[in-house]
Amino acid sequence: MNAVLSAENLGLSYPGRGLLKQRSAPPALQDVSLSIAMGDSIGLVGGSGAGKSTLLRILLALEKPDAGTVTFNDAPVVPGPAPSLRWYRRAVQYIPQNPAASLDPGMNVERLLLEPLRQLRIDGDHRRMILDALQRVDLDPGMLTRRPRELSGGQKQRVAIARALVPAPIFLLADEPVSGLDLPLRNTVLALIEQLVHRDGLGLLFVSHDLAAVARLCSQTLVLSGGRIVEQGSTAAVYAKPQTVEAKELVTAAALIHRFLPAPLPAPRP
Ligand code: ATP
Repeated sequence: MNAVLSAENLGLSYPGRGLLKQRSAPPALQDVSLSIAMGDSIGLVGGSGAGKSTLLRILLALEKPDAGTVTFNDAPVVPGPAPSLRWYRRAVQYIPQNPAASLDPGMNVERLLLEPLRQLRIDGDHRRMILDALQRVDLDPGMLTRRPRELSGGQKQRVAIARALVPAPIFLLADEPVSGLDLPLRNTVLALIEQLVHRDGLGLLFVSHDLAAVARLCSQTLVLSGGRIVEQGSTAAVYAKPQTVEAKELVTAAALIHRFLPAPLPAPRP
């Protein structure tokens, strides 16, 4: 069966703060539905405060929605104690913003890659799994004894992505993984994620402000604004003919930024 991660009619309002406490804050998410199958690559774009991180936290079972459901292969995904979510974390892994910053400086690469296997109680040949993950990010086994400070920026990014890969997930949820990275590092991370989707067939939800990065990786795009999906379709179509003000602004911003980069704007995938 082709695995599917689905969200149906998600809604969430954070409680108001301070003077606004008594009034209801505008919903951070309203009536959001999406479905990602293995091999799908979906970009989730939207301006600041659109609700991207909120949606991601709900999909990662870190936040409980007020309304709607998340399911993985029809099994409900709800926040809970770590043991109740191990099955889900094995299948669905997360790549955070600036992944290298999440590496514990006191651990060598082998420990860093062993941790997720221990936490998720994954049995089997751990050494083999660690070497496989390293290979998938094009890192040499000689790196295993190094600590983060002994790695280049690009190597750190690769190790951080290998941490997400070591449990052999079939879905990746990535939250602005290239924002704040310089151009070579940005390209390293995008190329790696591209391989994982196109070579290995993982399902991807890629959250970004950057429509050019989405165009490189994702065949489908969802545009989120004010907590709602205001536009969705093939990335090529959203890029070429944005229908909403929000999508038009994102396309213009991507075109402006990439005018100043040496590489041409990536061609949208069909
Ligand atoms: P950015 O691109 O700036 O990270 P985003 O699209 O990820 O933004 P969210 O972080 O999901 O947006 O925020 C959506 C809305 O919910 C915003 O109005 C934000 O202020 C609000 N919000 C987010 N987290 C909380 C929280 N813990 N408590 C109260 N309000 C919150």
